[in-house]
Amino acid sequence: MAIKVKLLAHTPNPEQTVAMAAKLCYSPSGIDDIRDGLTEEKTASFINMLTDLGHASPTEHASFTFGIEGISRACSHQLVRHRIASYSQQSQRYVDGTSFEFVTPPEIKNNEKALEIYEKILSEQAKAYREIRDALLAGYIRDFCGNDNDISDEELLKSFKSENKAKYSSFEKKANEDARFILPNASTTKIVCTFNARSLHNFFAHRCCNRAQWEIREVAEQMLLQCLEVAPNLFKNCGPSCLFGPCPEGKMCCSKQAEVRKKYGRE
Ligand SMILES: Cc1cc2nc3c(=O)[nH]c(=O)nc-3n(C[C@H](O)[C@H](O)[C@H](O)COP(=O)(O)OP(=O)(O)OC[C@H]3O[C@@H](n4cnc5c(N)ncnc54)[C@H](O)[C@@H]3O)c2cc1C
Repeated sequence: MAIKVKLLAHTPNPEQTVAMAAKLCYSPSGIDDIRDGLTEEKTASFINMLTDLGHASPTEHASFTFGIEGISRACSHQLVRHRIASYSQQSQRYVDGTSFEFVTPPEIKNNEKALEIYEKILSEQAKAYREIRDALLAGYIRDFCGNDNDISDEELLKSFKSENKAKYSSFEKKANEDARFILPNASTTKIVCTFNARSLHNFFAHRCCNRAQWEIREVAEQMLLQCLEVAPNLFKNCGPSCLFGPCPEGKMCCSKQAEVRKKYGRE
């Protein structure tokens, strides 16, 4: 499954909203006339002024909500480390893990031996997940109905499911809850996240950098491209820190500043 990133919603007129907040700080305007004269040009000039002054708080008034699919749990864990944002993630309790797919890192995909081991282990884990889940489920049903050992787990699940759908579904959630401990970091997930523009600036500086892992970097790059479409002035100075100055990564520097600048059209 390929990574899919979609800007689902954002503050209407995000740049004008930020410009209004800036105008309130720097002019005698009140809230009744704050919008007056905020042409595209004037809006852009307020945003440029904020950048020049390093006055970032007005950019917190514009929010952007993204839907992200097809990323691994390893990637989503890196994403949710960004605390200045809100998240809603697909539950591994409510959604049965037997339908989860897995992400294969390109380096593994391109290495025959690594790929063979990877796929073998993932398929064993998927099988173990199903078996643990079914065993737990059967145990809950036997406890509920009184232990009937004459019937196999498979038959028990089938008959109980048809007789008592609601109870079966609640037992399923309970079984998912513990069976999920066997699911790997490679399991795909879906997440909705909302960042304000200031937090996005920080996110892009960290995650568009070559030091970030390939998967979250791809997510960040797609998010940045979509932000640039709706608020080009607000995000024009976003991307890895080395676009705008020396690399802050010290001895971890990738030493590819020229290549990175070329990629972002900043040669
Ligand atoms: C290349 C790379 C490698 C990484 N490696 C590791 C690793 O090995 N282990 C690991 O645990 N994490 C690692 N991280 C995650 C990293 O440490 C941050 O947790 C993550 O990038 C979120 O950044 P943030 O704190 O700036 O963002 P946010 O949580 O969104 O915070 C934004 C900003 O708000 C301020 N802020 C937020 N909360 C606080 C607070 N409690 N106190 C003071 N200021 C606050 C800070 O200025 C912060 O920069 C790595 C990140 C990258 C990009």
